[in-house]
Amino acid sequence: MLRAETHRWDIMQTGAFMSNDRIIIVGAGMAGATTAYHLTRKGERNVVLLEKEKVAGAQSTGRNAAILRTMIPTPVYYRLACESAKFYFSPPEGFSSELLVDRIGVYLAATSEHTATLNAWCDENPDPDVLRGDASPVYELIPYIAPGLQVTAYKANDGILDVHSILQGFIRGACRSGAELCLGRLFKNLKTRNGRVLGIETSEGFMEASKVVIANGGWASVSTSFDGYGLPFAPYRRHLIVTEPLSQVSPRWPVIWIVGAEFYFRPESGGLLMSGCDAVRVTTEQGEITDHAEIERIAEKAALWLPSLSSAGIARAWAGMRTFAPDEMFVIGKDPRLEGLYWVAGLGGHGITCAPSIGSIAADWIVDGRCDHWAAATFAPNRLVK
Ligand SMILES: Cc1cc2nc3c(=O)[nH]c(=O)nc-3n(C[C@H](O)[C@H](O)[C@H](O)COP(=O)(O)OP(=O)(O)OC[C@H]3O[C@@H](n4cnc5c(N)ncnc54)[C@H](O)[C@@H]3O)c2cc1C
Repeated sequence: MLRAETHRWDIMQTGAFMSNDRIIIVGAGMAGATTAYHLTRKGERNVVLLEKEKVAGAQSTGRNAAILRTMIPTPVYYRLACESAKFYFSPPEGFSSELLVDRIGVYLAATSEHTATLNAWCDENPDPDVLRGDASPVYELIPYIAPGLQVTAYKANDGILDVHSILQGFIRGACRSGAELCLGRLFKNLKTRNGRVLGIETSEGFMEASKVVIANGGWASVSTSFDGYGLPFAPYRRHLIVTEPLSQVSPRWPVIWIVGAEFYFRPESGGLLMSGCDAVRVTTEQGEITDHAEIERIAEKAALWLPSLSSAGIARAWAGMRTFAPDEMFVIGKDPRLEGLYWVAGLGGHGITCAPSIGSIAADWIVDGRCDHWAAATFAPNRLVK
């Protein structure tokens, strides 16, 4: 992920801008990066992207499955994912020299027991690009899958995201337009007075700002960090494993998502990346600690669904946080309680897929004080404020 030395990063010393119109974004994961990018696209120059780690994207953004799956059952996410995919397929000039999506395709598949669930997912979001049928194409491509799948839904344009290049594209684009990436500095608390933001307390002292954007992933749940203005976020831990290289695996295999079995896999590094879709409520201290019982459960699902490949060793295993608001909708926009406070958090399991739209919605709120995007009201933080 992105390292400090590639960017000027100490705005405190540049003196290039008046600090009282500064916008500080807390967290240089995908949420913070896309917000910084879109703020600068709207002409904001005095933007600081503040990160506690020495590299950007070290937490959930660097620990996910990197799958672009637009076939999401929740209609608002389905639509947002399709909108964001357009950005990834044709990013603005100069965003990245890399291909941002490897379109290997995604199959949803189900046994007869879960056919109704799969059909309901697809019926919610009619899409002419989704091919629905029996499971024969999956068995032709991957004969190692256990028998029993009956129906499938296939989208050829979905696939694997190049998360590193996407994050770099957003941060580089923002920094080229004047934003500062400030690494290795911990946000400690908001500083407020008379119902408005004054700035933030950090590990290196106070930083003045007229606007503060909370984009710190699982740490948005640490209610003591917001001077009493916290929101009820909850991080849930999920594990991924990557097997050792397997001669049977082709890097062109599609992503296979077995609906109802809570199991998905895709090619990675010559082997397979797999998840058992675990979701255990954790604290931020537990969020990245690997639980061996969960790794075992992934191995059990692999033995069930890919019996002839299941003797493969595990090359890597890790865990990360998917963080949700109580209604599992993103939280993007202005906090109605405190002038100058904004949230870009609770991105759950779709934060990479939907990042282009997330940053655009956030920047509209921050710069214009309003947002006309069709999903803006659904994501607005006021729904969580009692
Ligand atoms: C196992 C797993 C699989 C997933 N698979 C997918 C997928 O296939 N497709 C998809 O679209 N999404 C997926 N996701 C979800 C996706 O990873 C997240 O939605 C996204 O990364 C959230 O980005 P973020 O910027 O909000 O959080 P993060 O990436 O966690 O960024 C938050 C940043 O804030 C920093 N920070 C925290 N506290 C402070 C502080 N006090 N001071 C300064 N900085 C601070 C952190 O260090 C971190 O860099 C998956 C997630 C997991 C865990």
